[in-house]
Amino acid sequence: MASTRASGNDLNAAALVTGLRTYFRSGTSADLSWRREQLRQLRKMLSDNESRFLQALQQDLHKAPQEGFMTEVSALYGDIDHALKHLKKWSRPRRASTPIVAQPAKSYLLPEPLGVVLIIGAWNYPLQLLLSPLVPAIAAGNCAVLKPSELAAATSALVAELLPRYLDNDAFACIEGAVPETTALLDQRWDHILYTGGGRVGKIVMAAAARHLTPVTLELGGKSPCIVADDANIEVAARRIAWGKFTNAGQTCIAPDYLLCTRATADRLVPAIERAVREMFGQDPRQSTDYGRIVNSRHTRRLAGFLADGEVVFGGQADIDGCYIAPTLLRGVRVDAAVMQEEIFGPVLPVVELDDFCKVEEFVNGREKPLALYVFTRKEATADRILARCSSGNACVNDCMMFMTAHELPFGGVGSSGMGNYHGEHGFRTFSHFKAVMKRRNIFDLDLRYAPFNARKFKL
Ligand code: NAD
Repeated sequence: MASTRASGNDLNAAALVTGLRTYFRSGTSADLSWRREQLRQLRKMLSDNESRFLQALQQDLHKAPQEGFMTEVSALYGDIDHALKHLKKWSRPRRASTPIVAQPAKSYLLPEPLGVVLIIGAWNYPLQLLLSPLVPAIAAGNCAVLKPSELAAATSALVAELLPRYLDNDAFACIEGAVPETTALLDQRWDHILYTGGGRVGKIVMAAAARHLTPVTLELGGKSPCIVADDANIEVAARRIAWGKFTNAGQTCIAPDYLLCTRATADRLVPAIERAVREMFGQDPRQSTDYGRIVNSRHTRRLAGFLADGEVVFGGQADIDGCYIAPTLLRGVRVDAAVMQEEIFGPVLPVVELDDFCKVEEFVNGREKPLALYVFTRKEATADRILARCSSGNACVNDCMMFMTAHELPFGGVGSSGMGNYHGEHGFRTFSHFKAVMKRRNIFDLDLRYAPFNARKFKL
C-alpha cells in the first residue's frame, strides 16, 4: 500500500484499510524480526534525511534546527532505540498464577497486535507527534495509517514522500489531507485510533470510533497550571518556566499555560522570567533565529486577542501576517477573561495572583483536569500535598516538561486532557491486546464441577 497524497474525493479509504488488513492477517507484522527491521528502517529514514526534516520544521514553525533536533528528531531516535532494546522482553508472555481448582495448568498473558491502527498527528510537533506513536504500533506488530497535520504542510509532505521508501508498503501508509480526508479515514473500521489534537476534534474522533466499537487513545490539551510557591528558587524557576513556555513559541501541549502564585512571589518572578527571555532570545525576539513563529495567521490573530486580557508586563508585540507574537507576560488578569478560559497554546503567559498560597489547589480543582501540572518549591511536603490533591495527566516538580524524557513514564491526559497513554512499554501496551490464556493438561479432572450435583459432591 503506497503512501498517498489524496484528496477527500480520490481517497479510497475502504480499499486502503482492506489491503492493510489482508496483509495483517498474513501474520507478517507479528514476526519479531519484521518489527525490528521496520523500526530500524524508520530510524534510517530519519538519519538519512535529518537535515531535510529539520528544514521542513523550520519552514512550518520557524523552528531552530537545534530545537527541532532536540524536541523532535532525537526524541524519536530515543523512542526507537528504547523499543529495539526492549522489544523481546515486552513481547514475551507474562506469567500469572493458577488457582488450585485449575491445576495442573499454566496461566499467562499473551501480547498480540491489535491489527490496523490509525494515527492522527497534530501540527505543533508535526514529526514527533506523528512518528512517536508509530514506534510502539510497529513494536506491537500492527499495520498503520498515518494522517499528518495539514497545518504543518512541509513536514506532512516530507513524511508522505519518504515513508514508502523505507517502510513495508503493504503495512504502512501516510495519507495527507485535512477534514475531508480525515473524515473518510474515520469512517473506516480500525482496530485502534490514536489522535493528538484539540478536544473538539477529539469528540469527533471518539464518536466515529464508537460506530465500530474501536478503542481510542486521545492525546488532548488544556490549561496546564504552573504553581510557584513563595520558597521556590526564583532564578531557576524563571529560566525553566521561560524555556517551557516559549519553546516553539508556546505551541506545546504541555507548556505551562498560566502562572499561579502569590502577589509577592509574582513581584520577584516576573522580572526574573523577563531576564531569562532576554538571555534566550535577545532584546528583540523577532530577530532571533531561535524564536519560533505561530503556525498560521488565524492562530496568530487568536493569540493577539489575548493581549488585551491583562496588563502587558513585557512583550505584547504582534504581527498577524508575520505570524509573530512576542514572548509576553500578563498581570492583572481576570479569571473570567478569555485568556484564562481557553487553552492559550502560544507565547502569552498570564499570572494569576492569589492572596493566599493555600488557595492553589482550590483554583486548580475548580477547572478541567490539566494535561500537565508544574510545582516549583523547595519543600517536598508542599509538592507532595499539591500532587496528592490535584489530578493531572503528568506532573513535574521544579521543572517543566522534562518528564517527556523518561521512557518509563507514560504520557497522556486525564479527564478532558485525554484518555490512554503511550511512550515506551506503555505505548506497546496501548497497541497490544493482552490475551489471557490458561493452558490445561488432560490429567486430574475434578468431577465436582460436572452435573449431576448430588449429595455425594455437595452438602449445602
Ligand atoms: P486540530 O484538533 O485542529 O487537528 C488535529 C488533527 O485533526 C489534524 O490532523 C486535523 O486534520 C484533524 N481534524 C481537524 N478538524 C477535523 C474534523 N472536523 N474532522 C476530522 N478531523 C479533523 O489540532 P489543534 O486543535 O489545532 O491542536 C492543538 C491542540 O492539540 C491543543 O489543544 C493541544 O493542547 C493539543 N495537543 C495535544 C498533544 C498531546 O500530546 N496531548 C500534543 C499536541 C497538541
